[in-house]
Amino acid sequence: MSEVVEMLQTARRIFAASHIDPDGDAIGSLLGFTWIMRRLGKTVTPALADAVPWRFCKLPGAAEIAAVKPSPDDDLLVSLDASDQSRLGSVLTADDIGERPLLVIDHHVTNTRFGAVNLIDPTAASTAEMVCLLGEELGAPIDEASATCLLTGVVTDTLGFRTTNTTPRVLEVAQRLMQAGANLPEIARGAFNNQSYASLRLTAEALNKMQLEDGVVWTELTQEMLKRLEIGPGDAAGIVGYLASVREADAAVVFRERDDGRIDISMRSKPGLNLAPVALSLGGGGHPQAAGATLPLSMSAVRERVIAELKRAVAAHRTQTVGEKA
Ligand code: 5GP
Ligand code: MN
Repeated sequence: MSEVVEMLQTARRIFAASHIDPDGDAIGSLLGFTWIMRRLGKTVTPALADAVPWRFCKLPGAAEIAAVKPSPDDDLLVSLDASDQSRLGSVLTADDIGERPLLVIDHHVTNTRFGAVNLIDPTAASTAEMVCLLGEELGAPIDEASATCLLTGVVTDTLGFRTTNTTPRVLEVAQRLMQAGANLPEIARGAFNNQSYASLRLTAEALNKMQLEDGVVWTELTQEMLKRLEIGPGDAAGIVGYLASVREADAAVVFRERDDGRIDISMRSKPGLNLAPVALSLGGGGHPQAAGATLPLSMSAVRERVIAELKRAVAAHRTQTVGEKA
């Protein structure tokens, strides 16, 4: 029996948390894990420092997610889809963890292994995929609630089974989740064909300001834009996907001014250009083709630094690709 399975089997009260600025995999893996462990008779508290974006509010259990810290009675802490401890935000700080056992479940190649026990699988396309496999290892029945949450994580992190890390195993997991009652077309429509008028207006403004240089395409979202259009949590996350589709660009980046003044950067790359080292060098993290960071600098300073780094990465990637073809 693996250490992870034993840790989960012996736990009685579990505090589970995922990352700030939650996306579909943060919420899907958190809630899927919550339902699986509840089916095994555990008491589980799902926590997130930031609000659940409206598009995921109807997931089973979403209304229960709160910005709470662990209680003294919780005997196991679990982190899902967070590549480092700071990504958990206010719900689980280093002080909150203290000497308590922390299990980290994650698929980021940049994961810092900040738990007492770390289940890290960078070959998994989503943390939800890992939770599904873990649930099966635990012998837990996957019901419609957990399947719906987990398939949401699988579908959103693979952009609807289109990312380079979409393996046969992803499709096998998705098939089992559908068989357990998850509605794939509804999840896909809710994730991708569903946005507010304001967020499409924001996309229009962002695309209007888009620039392309040396294989790097970028745009920026200022607080003025976000406030004027009343953009809510998660409602700007899709813009980088439009930029990443530009044929002439190997790297795409969206700079977003947060309400605390820090700049959030969201990056995407063509297959073969690894963004994970770029994100790490900026103090962030992520995957080879999708990564990010948050920098406490001005918009212009961040833009200058990140675009320079991405231009270097694109140039190196192009030299290497030419070399491979020669
Ligand atoms: P996105 O661009 O969709 O916000 O994030 C892409 C990937 O980069 C995700 O896997 C996300 O977890 C990671 N990421 C985004 N922003 C940050 C950040 O500020 N810090 C860290 N460590 N990872 C980030
Ligand atoms: Mn993920």
